[in-house]
Amino acid sequence: MASIFTKIINGDIPCYKIAETDKFFAFLDINPNAKGHTLCIPKAEVDKLFDLDDDTYLELMAFSKLVAAAIKKAVPCKRVGMTVIGLEVPHAHVHLIPLNSMEDARFLSKEKLSDAEFQDLAAAIRANL
Ligand code: AMP
Repeated sequence: MASIFTKIINGDIPCYKIAETDKFFAFLDINPNAKGHTLCIPKAEVDKLFDLDDDTYLELMAFSKLVAAAIKKAVPCKRVGMTVIGLEVPHAHVHLIPLNSMEDARFLSKEKLSDAEFQDLAAAIRANL
């Protein structure tokens, strides 16, 4: 069965899209640690990041770096952190999280955003790509 992220790539589930290439996709995390929390994924449905072939892994890092730079310009923060977990969704993904304190990296306190806030954030990040 297709992962929830494959369904997002295919447009079967809505998302707040940030970027797309032939191999990669980026969108806002629906339950963000902080405003601008973004997920970068390969379109290939591979569960674990370190099981990606080397080329795809390195290209995902390069794609994530571009997205992180756009987040940094669009979202006030000290830095953009990168985290890999994968306990919830078995489709490799990189979390890019605008950090102002260690709390933002802990996946415990979450931001509740309106649809309009998600849309504005996505548009602001896209504008800086
Ligand atoms: P993990 O697999 O533990 O790295 O966490 C998966 C992440 O995917 C969590 O931060 C979720 O909030 C996020 N997530 C799950 N479903 C969606 C969705 N439909 N749209 C955006 N983000 C999602």
